Amino acid sequence: ATRIVLASRPDGKPTTDNFRTETVTLPAIEDGEFLVRVIWLSLDPYMRGRMDDAKSYAKPVALGDVMEGGTVAEVIESRNSDFPVGKIVAGSFGWTTHAISNGDGVRIVDPDMAPISTAQGVLGMPGITAWVGLNDIGRAKDGETIVVSAATGAVGGMVGQLAKAKNMRVIGVAGGPEKCDYAIKELGYDLCLDHHAHDAKSLGKAIAKAAPDGVDVYFESVGGKTLEAVLGNMNIHGRIAVCGMIAWYSGQGVKDAQPLPAVWRNILTKRLLVEGFIIFEHFHKFPDFMAQVGPMVGDGRITYREDIAEGLENAPQAFIDMLGGGNFGKQMVRVGAD
Ligand code: NDP
Repeated sequence: ATRIVLASRPDGKPTTDNFRTETVTLPAIEDGEFLVRVIWLSLDPYMRGRMDDAKSYAKPVALGDVMEGGTVAEVIESRNSDFPVGKIVAGSFGWTTHAISNGDGVRIVDPDMAPISTAQGVLGMPGITAWVGLNDIGRAKDGETIVVSAATGAVGGMVGQLAKAKNMRVIGVAGGPEKCDYAIKELGYDLCLDHHAHDAKSLGKAIAKAAPDGVDVYFESVGGKTLEAVLGNMNIHGRIAVCGMIAWYSGQGVKDAQPLPAVWRNILTKRLLVEGFIIFEHFHKFPDFMAQVGPMVGDGRITYREDIAEGLENAPQAFIDMLGGGNFGKQMVRVGAD
């Protein structure tokens, strides 16, 4: 197997030097195990957290270990009757071309439902993150106004469409006119604001104009000036679903952030419900999510876009680019032939 390991921990933004490619010979599979060849590797912002040796909700990747990652793969050798040869599976096999598994945390993917890459996108972890975040955490209701940050990304693109299906007024914030155009024309957003064209103050004004009745729900994925801009526009009893804060993942802009007392005062005076969530705690809802959203993807009511890097060797650069907004849609890596 060829695989990419964590060579060193980043200081701020990651560089390609933080990764190393290795070739290893995998052992023969034992009873209960199966061998897969990876077809798709998903690149996700959480991987930035795994590169730091810091206490968090999940253990960091150890130096020299394979980078963690969700994949879609084909079983090519099996001594496990639940996972016969030829099946397509989704599992966390990491940044590698091949892996051995005993089936823990692995699910079988139905290739007839939708293209298999969606098992790590709209019909995988990002999709259920959007669905849980909007409904359970954001408690979004018909007719309300929502702001969605990283509006065209893997999670945001789904949040926007699900919110529209609920008849909400849906305002996106995305990086650049091309992404905003796509948000409105393809994803159905009522409006989309380009955060590159604004500082926190003018973005706040633009949101006020876009949301004349105020903001009831903020789907928070970015932090930074977007959070600051939305916070001032929240309605009384508004909800903020705290999904991520990618603008701060590599330490940029942290010092310029709004002082905590101002943020705290806003939460108090507007009686906001601010709730963080980590999707792993909600995976038991996966069957409900698939039952509701699977058909919507299957018949095209939910659309999605993928940004595909070709070859495992290009994963580090694609990952670094994604952290800075270089991806347009769900970032995937084609590791093997589809
Ligand atoms: P995306 O496909 O949305 O890609 C990341 C996007 O973040 C970029 O394309 C860029 O979009 C945006 N971004 C990057 N830097 C900034 C910045 N400084 N300011 C504003 N936007 C920025 O990734 P995902 O959909 O996979 O993830 C979105 C968020 O959800 C992340 O914060 C991630 O960590 C979080 N997440 C949380 C989960 C949980 O369990 N809580 C589970 C899954 C994801 P643009 O160009 O539009 O700015």
